[in-house]
Amino acid sequence: MMIPCLACESRFRPDEYFRACHDYNRSMDLVAWTCPCCGNRDDLRVLPGELGFGYPRKGRFDVHDRIRVPGLRRHRKELRLDITLDTNVWRVPTRLRQLVGAR
Ligand SMILES: [Zn+2]
Repeated sequence: MMIPCLACESRFRPDEYFRACHDYNRSMDLVAWTCPCCGNRDDLRVLPGELGFGYPRKGRFDVHDRIRVPGLRRHRKELRLDITLDTNVWRVPTRLRQLVGAR
């Protein structure tokens, strides 16, 4: 299973890919991801069994493209998102200033 960067089309193993996730926006339910190869930043939604890509619109996020990642699971926590695949867990923290802005 290799996950592509939608900008430069480099492909990453899940561990490389999910380690590059760095901010969980809880109110929008989005994870920020910066490509280790080209530096492109993308926002994506982690969904059961797939990743959703799209665009913010009117305060919401519309998913337009999906990449299937069989076995992918997500657990929303208070200040982070836990992404699990097989026996691996990646924890993506929420930046506190996002919480302040969401109030
Ligand atoms: Zn890239």
